[in-house]
Parts: sequence; structure tokens; C-alpha cells
Amino acid sequence: MKNIAVLGSSGSIGVQTLNFIAKTKNEFKVCGLSVNSNIELLQKQIKQFKPSVVSVGNQQDANKVELWCKKNRYNTKAYFGIDGLNKVATIKEVDIVLFSVVGSIGLKSLLKAIEAGKNIAIANKESLVMAGSIIMKRAKEKNVKILPVDSEHSAIFQCIGEEKKESIKKIILTASGGPFYKSNKKLSTITVEDALAHPTWEMGKKITIDSATLMNKGLEAIEASVLFGVPIEKIEIVIHPQSIVHSMVEFNDGCVMAQLSNPDMTLPIQYALSYPERRKCFIKPLDLIQTQKLEFYKPDFKKFECLKIAYDCARVGWTMPAVMNASNEIAVEYFLDNKISFSDIASIVKTMTSKHKIIKTNNIQKYLEVDENIRQQTVNLIEERYI
Ligand code: MG
Repeated sequence: MKNIAVLGSSGSIGVQTLNFIAKTKNEFKVCGLSVNSNIELLQKQIKQFKPSVVSVGNQQDANKVELWCKKNRYNTKAYFGIDGLNKVATIKEVDIVLFSVVGSIGLKSLLKAIEAGKNIAIANKESLVMAGSIIMKRAKEKNVKILPVDSEHSAIFQCIGEEKKESIKKIILTASGGPFYKSNKKLSTITVEDALAHPTWEMGKKITIDSATLMNKGLEAIEASVLFGVPIEKIEIVIHPQSIVHSMVEFNDGCVMAQLSNPDMTLPIQYALSYPERRKCFIKPLDLIQTQKLEFYKPDFKKFECLKIAYDCARVGWTMPAVMNASNEIAVEYFLDNKISFSDIASIVKTMTSKHKIIKTNNIQKYLEVDENIRQQTVNLIEERYI
């Protein structure tokens, strides 16, 4: 039996992970959970999985949860904030920590989990974009596995298998293209509702907007470069509207390996948690005859500026991807609040990244400082120039 902690258990990946665990018998024990504010769902999860430790966003909610646990005789301790996340990330008996918090908030606890020798199932691409080389270096030193949960990266991981990274000619990262790939609509007129209607995947709000701007693919290109130790120039993006081929790897001899399955996060989640085993999966089996068409197109870097920004930032490296990530997170929040337009997201990220002077450092604290400063500066920029 594997002991597991889930950071971000009320989000889309967290919920799907717990659904999967509930279907297995005595294979996983859930020892820790964390949510930001969805206390109602957390209580349901406590009732079902009886974790020893949980964490929530603030002290008031932590008190409320702990009182509720006492009343219902659950032996669960409740904590809050970053310290709470760290507690869940480092529970003694836990073997694997699934990181599915949204945004850069998870970075510190991710490093704590690595220090504590936990294997990581990573569904938080923002931390890898922010400080990927530091994370991968520490993981190597601690002999800890970083297992991808993102569907594309799970695909790449499976395609690479036991091959050496020197044998990789290029990684072909597939993208559904989001809802506006074929649309002639002016990007500035796109509403929040338009952008939240993703054609093939059902996900949280932040990632759905990132998928519409294609920033998600930009973040994923950087994530792939970090996870597999391949330079960004060797990562090619291909639009594949059916979301059946989840990514491909081309090797030096010209062989291209691809991973195919119906679009359902259950498979990458369970592969990360069960690795190296392949267990029965309950998703709809792939029927290629019924699927009929698998299409591939070139991405439009002009229309989807975020994609170009991401490649430029990856080439510069150091603190630049962290700046891109922080300013994007803030811009997406403002867009979701209907305060800026869809096309403003790219222009805000462009402004913030083009004026940043990179810091060449391996000190994690510096990355966290940059993240915080850029968030504040992005808020200022938006309040001054966009509202
Ligand atoms: Mg993905």
C-alpha cells in the first residue's frame, strides 16, 4: 500500500485523484489533504478518507475544521497557510505527494517534500516554470522521483521510457489549440464565458484561460524542458484538436513514439501514482476507427503571443520564466474578474517580462522574492494603465 498526500484536493486534479483512489481497494492510503477555501468539500473528503493531517487557507477555517473533526470523532489535525501546506507535504508516513495546487504558492512546500525524501507526482507546472532547475537538482540529490501528472508530460515520460536523453532528437508537444484556434473573432472581444468553454478538456478556471491564450502550452514547453532535461529549441508544439495523441518523442534514428488515449486525466493521474505498475484503468477505451481523424497543424505564434513570449523567456532563463508566470497569474485573475480584455493578458505579460533584468542565482529565496515583487508590480501596472 502507498501512503499519499494530496495538496490541492478540491481542484480538478485533486478531485479526480481521490475519485481514482476511492475505486482502488487497499492500494493507497490518503494521509493528508489541503484545500484553500472549499471547506465543505474538504469535510466530505475527511469523512471518506480519514487523513491524519489537513490544511486550509486561514486560521478561522482551520479551527472550524478541527472542531468539526472532534465532534465527529475523526482523528484529523487541521493547520493553515504555508506552514499547513508544509505539514501536509512532509507527513512522516507519506511515500508520494501529489501537488495539484494552482499557481506558484506550492513551490516552497514542494521543496520541503523533496527535502523530506517524498516522491512527487507533479500537477503544478507553475513551480517547475518558476524554479525548475533548482527543483530537479534537489530531487536528484535526494534521489526523489518527480512523476508528471500533466497529460502531455505523462505521455512524453512514457514515450521516453528507458531511453537516454541524449537519444532524443525532439519532443513534439501536442496542444488542443483551445477554443479560439480556428475562430476569426478578434481576441480583444473574447469574453470570460467564451474563454472558459474548452473544446476537449474540463479543467479549473486558471488553466482553461491559459489554454485559450496558449500560455498553458508555453508553460508546458518550459515544464517539459525542465522535467526531461531537453533544451527549449528541441521542443516543438503541434496543434492537435482531437486531444488523442498526448505528445510524441522523436529519437535520433528517426523513430517517433507517441502516446494515445481518450482525453481523460484519470490515466496520467493513475500512471503517476501506480508507476512503474500499469493497472487497469476505467476510462473509455480508444477506438481509432470511430475517431477516424487525427489532425495536426502548425501553431500561430503571431495570433497567440503568449506562446512566443514563453519561448523567449525560456531561452533567457534564470528569473525570466518566473516573471512571465507571476505576471500571467495576475493578468488571468483580472481577466476572470472582467476587468481587462482577453488580449490584454499577453500585452501585460510582455510589458512585465521586457522590463525585467534577470538575476542569475540558484537561491530559491530570490525566485520567491521575484515572484512576489512581480505580482505587486503587475497589479500596479494593471490598475494604472488598464482600468
Ligand atoms: Mg496539459
